[in-house]
Amino acid sequence: GYHRVLEENRKLYNQVQDLKGNIRVYCRVRPSLGGRSDFKSVVDSIEEGTITINTPAKYGKGCRSFNFNKVFGPSATQAEVFADTRPLIRSVLDGYNVCIFAYGQTGSGKTHTMTGPKDLTETSQGVNYRALSDLFNIAEQRKDTLQYDVSVQMIEIYNEQVRDLLVTEEIRNNSQNGFNVPDASLVHVSSMYDVIDLMNLGHKNRVVGATALNDRSSRSHSCLTVHVQGRDLTSGAVLRGCMHLVDLAGSERVDKSEVAGERLKEAQHINRSLSALGDVISSLSQKNSHVPYRNSKLTQLLQDSLGGQAKTLMFVHISPELNAVGETLSTLKFAERVATVELGAAQVHKDTPDVKELKEQIANLKAALARKE
Ligand code: ADP
Ligand code: MG
Repeated sequence: GYHRVLEENRKLYNQVQDLKGNIRVYCRVRPSLGGRSDFKSVVDSIEEGTITINTPAKYGKGCRSFNFNKVFGPSATQAEVFADTRPLIRSVLDGYNVCIFAYGQTGSGKTHTMTGPKDLTETSQGVNYRALSDLFNIAEQRKDTLQYDVSVQMIEIYNEQVRDLLVTEEIRNNSQNGFNVPDASLVHVSSMYDVIDLMNLGHKNRVVGATALNDRSSRSHSCLTVHVQGRDLTSGAVLRGCMHLVDLAGSERVDKSEVAGERLKEAQHINRSLSALGDVISSLSQKNSHVPYRNSKLTQLLQDSLGGQAKTLMFVHISPELNAVGETLSTLKFAERVATVELGAAQVHKDTPDVKELKEQIANLKAALARKE
C-alpha cells in the first residue's frame, strides 16, 4: 500500500514537472454517431501519442501521422480523458495560472469534452465539472494548512462582444471585480451544488441569446473562469491561481462565397480571433518580446493564462468521417504547430507576509529619516 502511494506520488510529481512550461496537446477522436457497423473512419491507427490519418486522393493519397502528448480514441471515456488533466487542477491550487481549451470544427466533440452531452449524467460529465469537483476535493484535503476561496465567472464571446453568462438580478450588483473582464459577475462558490447551479444558469443565459434559426453556440467562444485564493494558515502567505476552461467556436473555414450578412460577419470574427490565438502561440514559441494579446477579445481574456508563466492544455478534436477529412487535416496541422511550442517555466503567484512587513519597515525608516532632516 505504502509503496503504491509513493509510486503514485512520484508519477504525479513527474506529470506536474512535465507540464511545466509548454503547451500540452491532447487529441480526441469523436466516435461515429450513425451507429453503422460498416463505418470506415479516416483514422488509420492510434498509438500512444501518434495518430495516423488515411488521406484520400484529393489530399495526396497515403498516410499522414501527427504527434501529440496523447491521443484519445473514439472509445475513451470522460473519466479517462480527465485523468490526464488532473495535475493541472492541482497546479491551480498551488498558485499557477492554467488554461484548458477545446479546439476543433463544429460537431467534433468540443462541448462533449468540456461540458458533456445534453442529457448529462455523473459519468458523462465533462472536464468543467470534474475540474471543479477535484478542486473542492483537494482544497478539502488541505484544509488544515490552507484556507481556499473559489469564485467563478462564465462569459461568451460573440462577434468580439463579451457577454456575462452569470447575470441574475441578485448578483448584478456584485461589486467584486473579475480579472480581464472586469464587468463580468464573479460568484463565490463553496460546493459542487453551487457550481452546478451556476453552470445551469450560464447555459440558460447562453440559449436566451440564441434564436430558433440561429444556434450560435458553435459560433461563439464560451469560457468558464475559476479564481482560487489559498491562505496559508501558519504563514499568512496567499496563493492565487486562475483557470480558464474554454470551449472555442468551430474552427471550420467558412466558404465566403456561400455566406452573407450575419453569417459572414460571424465567420470573419471567428477566423480573426482564432488566427489571433494562433499568432499569440507562435509569438510565444519564438520568444518574441511583444506578444499580440490585444488583437482579440479571446487572447485578451486568456492573457494571464496563456504564456510562459502559465500552463496550457489544448484538447484538439477531430471527426472520423471522410467528408470532414479536409478540416481534420487542417485542425491536426494547427495542433501540431501548437504542440511544438516551448515556453519558460511556469510561475507561482504568491504574496508572502514578509514583503508586506518589509514594505512597512521601509516606510517607517523613510519617515524617521524625514524627521531627522
Ligand atoms: P462541438 O461542440 O465540437 O460542436 P459536440 O460536443 O456538440 O461538438 O458533439 C457533437 C455531437 O457528438 C453531440 O451530439 C455529442 O454528444 C456527440 N459526441 C461528441 N463527442 C463524443 C464522444 N466522445 N462520445 C460520444 N458522443 C460524442
Ligand atoms: Mg459545441
